[in-house]
Formats: sequence, C-alpha cells, structure tokens
Amino acid sequence: MKGIQICPTCGQPTLKVKEETVEGLMKDSSKMSKEKGKWQVCVNENCDTIYIKNDIEVKKDEIKPVVFFKDKTDDALICYCYKINRGDIKLAIEHGSKTTGEVYKYLNKSKKGSCSTNNPLGKSCSNVFKHTLNALLKEQKQ
Ligand SMILES: [Zn+2]
Repeated sequence: MKGIQICPTCGQPTLKVKEETVEGLMKDSSKMSKEKGKWQVCVNENCDTIYIKNDIEVKKDEIKPVVFFKDKTDDALICYCYKINRGDIKLAIEHGSKTTGEVYKYLNKSKKGSCSTNNPLGKSCSNVFKHTLNALLKEQKQ
C-alpha cells in the first residue's frame, strides 16, 4: 500500500482527485500532462497549491472557479452544479432558510444535479453545502 501523499508546498496530506475534474477546471489545459500518475488535491486553506501530480503543481489562480476550500469570500462557489456561492447562501439565510432544501427553493434552483465534474473535489457538493450552511447559521446566531 502506498503512503499518504504530501503537498510539496505546505506539507499537508492531500486527497485523490479525478483527472477529468482537474482537466475541466484548468484555465490552460496544456499543463495537463499525459504522463502517468494520479492527481492529488491540497485542501489546506492557507496553501496556494491546489492540484499536484508528480512534479506538476497547479496553483489556485490557474483554475477557473474561486475555490471554496481556498477562499472564504462570498464569491466562493459552494454548489458547483448550480453556481451557488457563499453570498447566495447568506442571503437565503437572511430570508429565513434553514435547510439546504429551503436555500435551493429560495434561490429558485431545483434539487437535482451532478457536481462531480464541476466541483474541484470531484464529488457531489451536498456535504459541503450542508457544512457551509450549518457554519453560516451558527455564525448568524452569535
Ligand atoms: Zn498545500
């Protein structure tokens, strides 16, 4: 078994990510190499490297979206299938939304969708959405 890969920039453990996810998000896809190896993603908020494969390091400003786990601004997209950003969720909360379903309803989005190619982690955004919503609701109570 191979050990956990470490981000060469910050030294934190990385997660696996699908090649097509990286490819779809890169501004300049010529940086995609055909060489063998697995892409990894660094989710450390304070690190400007996002994707790593062998010697290749992709910085967060080399990909198209503002990435939620690298950026705490309102522009950071949380739900990639519907382009819902943190600011949208805040607005929905201000108007009484307390669940992800209510947020979708307030923003007039239907609940079905697939994020796996648009989300920079290559997975559905529903967990991140829930997590962000709960964190923002908590913030509001204080
Ligand atoms: Zn890193």
